[in-house]
Amino acid sequence: MTDALENLNNVRARIAAAEKAAHRPAGSVQLVAVSKTFEADAIRPVLQAGQRVFGENRVQEAQGKWPALRQEFPGLELHLIGPLQSNKAKEAVALFDVIETVDREKIAAELAKEAARQGRRLRFYVQVNIGQEPQKAGIDPREAAAFAARCRDVHGLAVEGLMCIPPADENPGPHFALLAKIAAEAGLQKLSMGMSGDYETAVHFGATSVRVGSAIFGTR
Ligand SMILES: *Cc1c(COP(=O)(O)O)cnc(C)c1O
Repeated sequence: MTDALENLNNVRARIAAAEKAAHRPAGSVQLVAVSKTFEADAIRPVLQAGQRVFGENRVQEAQGKWPALRQEFPGLELHLIGPLQSNKAKEAVALFDVIETVDREKIAAELAKEAARQGRRLRFYVQVNIGQEPQKAGIDPREAAAFAARCRDVHGLAVEGLMCIPPADENPGPHFALLAKIAAEAGLQKLSMGMSGDYETAVHFGATSVRVGSAIFGTR
């Protein structure tokens, strides 16, 4: 067994245990395997083990490896989890199934336009800057619900939920709890939260998907 495969099985088992501990149904948390910086050859064993949902943070990097892998492995679901510039919206809409980083009006409008033009039905998350960090992408938590509503009602985007990356040096629990609260108030079902270091905590606070990279593929 390759390391990645062993790691994948370990992460799956820990998600299952966290679901159980939180009295949540088995299988209620989706694993998004974050394959950024890894080549197709490193990703293939994870695909062969049945994993079909992957996250990438750069449009151009994803374009270089996923079209060929899609041919090999049907049923893939690709998530964009990194910042999106409006001049890359066209490529992002063509390649990804879910865009988790909608955080401003301009990009919402651009994505809506491209999805219509290409006849693609993508799903979206609004990224929330949950710790209100100046350097971090995402909409202010106080504006998130209204922005999500505008994405749906004005731009017609299928917004399913909220995504966040808590501040690196803080206890993530309160940040996850706040994201869950905002989503509930906004009537959004999905919560993308939790990474290699804190995905079990995120499951406890209601994550419906966790984005796990290094715990599967190794250090970058
Ligand atoms: C890289 C990345 C992850 C995965 O991080 P790990 O700590 O390697 O699990 C999750 N979410 C986002 C937005 C990322 O950029």
